Amino acid sequence: MAKPKVAFYWCASCGGCEEAVVDLAEDILKVVEKVDIVFWPVAMDFKRRDVEGLGDGELAAVFINGAIRTSEQEEMAKLLRRKSRLVVAFGSCAYLGGIPGLANLSSKDAVFETVYKKVPTVVNPEGVVPRTETDVDGFKLKLPDFYDGVRTLAQVIEVDYFLPGCAPPPDLIMEAINKILTGELPEKGSVLAPEKSLCDTCPRRDSKPDKIKISDISRIAYKKIDTDKCFLAEGIICLGPATRSGCGERCINANMPCRGCFGPTREVLDQGGKFLSGLMSIVDTQDEEEIKRIADSVIDPVGLFYMYSLPYSLRMKFLK
Ligand code: SF4
Ligand code: SF4
Repeated sequence: MAKPKVAFYWCASCGGCEEAVVDLAEDILKVVEKVDIVFWPVAMDFKRRDVEGLGDGELAAVFINGAIRTSEQEEMAKLLRRKSRLVVAFGSCAYLGGIPGLANLSSKDAVFETVYKKVPTVVNPEGVVPRTETDVDGFKLKLPDFYDGVRTLAQVIEVDYFLPGCAPPPDLIMEAINKILTGELPEKGSVLAPEKSLCDTCPRRDSKPDKIKISDISRIAYKKIDTDKCFLAEGIICLGPATRSGCGERCINANMPCRGCFGPTREVLDQGGKFLSGLMSIVDTQDEEEIKRIADSVIDPVGLFYMYSLPYSLRMKFLK
């Protein structure tokens, strides 16, 4: 019997999600035994025309990582959607917008200005920036359009399942692949990770008081804390209360607070907003000046509270 065909593709991402697939190590052999990988540009020499040659719905599943920033990424996402019975948004950038989504704080022109003109290592006396079409010796060179903003995959195509993480951990990847192969999938639109918050599974949860009160916010680089102490109770911002579990508490175990890469739990609409309101409720003062001092001590609040979820957030949805 012919094996089900699957594909992997990457959009605006760092490549870490591709590494996560490679990190399956010998488990990747178990996957290859059961499926035919017919498109995986980062690892195998397939071309776009190979995907175009497939019948509609011929792929059993496609795993797309990365957010959508360019016209090429949008075209490929739409093409793969047509060819595949299931689409999995693989990793935080596809699911939430991820780190590339923080570029939504700047305009396209500002991004080009910085990247192609202002950074000290760039030499560009003519101020050339990428264009979709350039004439060179009578030929037209074409580049994909760089859009004004970054979108999540589900803001561009219909997505069946979401696999969170930066990058998704191997056990969740294997679990997702097995569920697809056996057909034991949850309700369409589900996030393929536990419903609990990270605080519920955190090895430091016993040191988290029922009612936290903080009078200062510290940065992990400037404060030494015991490896069994709750970061938040020590005044260090940890997004665990607003973040879905399932990552294996990777950062916590490395003595780093959570930055929210697994995205919000089902009940939370806006991960950054939820954390921010929770944070302000544990500040141990009613004095307005003091509240302002504590709030101002958070460096880059948007970058911190929405590190992985800016395009997904309520704010960006209202802006659309
Ligand atoms: S706030 Fe952070 S350190 Fe504290 S219990 Fe939650 S995840 Fe663990
Ligand atoms: S601790 Fe938080 S930031 Fe770190 S891997 Fe887990 S969900 Fe992601």
